[in-house]
Amino acid sequence: MVEVQLAHRGVRDPLVLEAMGSVPREAFVEPGFEEFAYEDSPLPIGEGQTISQPYVVALMIEAAEVKPGERVLEVGAGSGYAAAVLAQIADRVYGIERHPSLVQAAQRRLSDLKYTNVELRSGDGTLGWPEAAPFDAILVSAGGPQVPKALKEQLAVGGRLIMPVGAAGMQSLQKITRKASGEFEEQSLGAVAFVPLVGEHGWTEDGPRSATGHLPGQSRSRSLPALIAKVAEPLADCDDEDFGRAFDDFANRRIVLLGEATHGTSEFYRARFAITRRLIEAHGFTIVAVEADWPDAAAIDRYVRHRDPRAHPGRAFQRFPTWMWRNTDVHDFVEWLRAHNEHLPPEKRAGFYGLDLYNMSGSIAAVLEYLEKVDPDAAAIARERYGCLTPWQKEPSTYGRAVLTDSYRRCEDAVIEQCRELLRKELDYAQNDGASFLDAAQNARLIASAERYYRIMYYGGAESWNLRDTHMFDTLMHLVEAQGSGAKALVWAHNSHIGDARHTEMGQVRDELNIGQLCRERFKAQAALIGFGTHTGTVAAATDWDEDMQIMRVRPSHRNSYERLCHDTAVPRFLLRPDRDAVVRRRLTDPRLERFIGVIYRPETELMSHYSEASLARQFDAYVWFDETTAVTPLGPQHARPGVPDTYPFAV
Ligand code: SAH
Repeated sequence: MVEVQLAHRGVRDPLVLEAMGSVPREAFVEPGFEEFAYEDSPLPIGEGQTISQPYVVALMIEAAEVKPGERVLEVGAGSGYAAAVLAQIADRVYGIERHPSLVQAAQRRLSDLKYTNVELRSGDGTLGWPEAAPFDAILVSAGGPQVPKALKEQLAVGGRLIMPVGAAGMQSLQKITRKASGEFEEQSLGAVAFVPLVGEHGWTEDGPRSATGHLPGQSRSRSLPALIAKVAEPLADCDDEDFGRAFDDFANRRIVLLGEATHGTSEFYRARFAITRRLIEAHGFTIVAVEADWPDAAAIDRYVRHRDPRAHPGRAFQRFPTWMWRNTDVHDFVEWLRAHNEHLPPEKRAGFYGLDLYNMSGSIAAVLEYLEKVDPDAAAIARERYGCLTPWQKEPSTYGRAVLTDSYRRCEDAVIEQCRELLRKELDYAQNDGASFLDAAQNARLIASAERYYRIMYYGGAESWNLRDTHMFDTLMHLVEAQGSGAKALVWAHNSHIGDARHTEMGQVRDELNIGQLCRERFKAQAALIGFGTHTGTVAAATDWDEDMQIMRVRPSHRNSYERLCHDTAVPRFLLRPDRDAVVRRRLTDPRLERFIGVIYRPETELMSHYSEASLARQFDAYVWFDETTAVTPLGPQHARPGVPDTYPFAV
């Protein structure tokens, strides 16, 4: 291959020829295509993408003048083949690829082949890799409308960038050399044919971005929102009884999981109230299990099921993020549930339970309080980490810094002792609580898993997330089993917990699972995973852990997101069941960006902090859309009820 295809075509650089000769190309193609690995043609690598033809890889690397000791970025890493060739020559190679599944496969190949100087990540390469910049060379292996500014800026002075520019069928390979900080030289290397560069500074998913968004004859992206609009079932206002009725088809499921795209949007709470009300009143659901701490939710449960307040009352939901449960929408729901239960026999009453790790927010608060006293720097890092221990955030620097802080490590034992103490006290209370759900065995389990959790909470990553979601699932199973074979449950938790993780970046790239996935695996079609989304509006959130809640503006959705497709339907509120239409289902299976806002919202770094790739039609059974949404209203003094004892969950 080197001799015939490269040297004969004029590739001269001995470094390039040697590198091309030593990378086993067959290891990078899809199974079944190995025998074609050394042909001079592009080959499939999955996700409809191709590995570049050897001559083109060699040509680009030669044109980029890559030398030993240099740092190189490749945008569109695909199979990892070109990155491997680069790694033979350069000191360090960074590769970005938009399809998480390709990144995963490429990472496996590169590690099997023992490449230790290549780092790959999934994401939009048109934004570059600012943390690793500047680069001596940048190769873009997909063709875009122009050279993204971010990439030019991430070039070192003297650096070279090679990229195909132009629409399909008329691309030309461009070489940009950064002569001085503000001086770039451009050169054209001839006509080429690459797959499209899809991203913020590239093309849209469905083709070129022109004044109208399309080339003549291309109507795909205009038709997708139109197709969605045709399948979407418009919804009444949340307060209208018809809203809940629209979900009657889910009545025969055992578990209905209701998501939310933020932790501070009123419409999501009101919609879940309406659906929950309908499924409890008309269809026999008796369990409402929410993403909240067990002891706090238990206070509400006592209230709604007309049970005695506990012996040692502590006020519920007093810790960050208080607005998640101390808001007017939850208040209305709790009052309704109490009234609904009032005339029912105890065994028919619907209960309200917390799924989260036992007293997690109490434990976090205790950790922060302790660190604040002994090591304020460590406390600051811990606070930041709690703020971004979410599966969708891509801020590796935060993890790195926290893990490497020695003082933080030194505090670990003491902190764990604090948490253990807290848990013991809480469990003592719980045991003295007559009708407690917690038996001795469960207590023991909690203590065992809590210690593990506290320990790994420091080091973050998939393990702590998985432990938390497995715990939530186990708790849900205990609740369902306790009520017998016919019990039906509703779960209220964030989209990131209830959308099947296997079809999102969190599962595919980070090995994270979630309660939605576990419910599907256990209950098959008896589980319904219902996601929620919005285009813009306001949201209640903080900028960091433990900071004050603010009402923030939600930025209009990203142009490459599912949210933007929904917005473009021009239907303000709808229920979408992708399964109702084969074409819509297929189109909504293609991976796209999806927005996740938790208790922290950082609009200024929104793309990095809040968007993640997912395959919507596989992630959810249904999707509920509110084009414009409003922030929740936290409970204020006006909600205090004179004469109601302090044990009332929302006494203020
Ligand atoms: N160099 C690769 C060739 C892959 S083809 C190899 O040797 O195998 C180009 C790749 O660019 C595709 O995998 C495509 O998914 C990816 N791509 C397109 N737009 C991208 C973007 N904005 N960011 C990152 N990758 C992108």
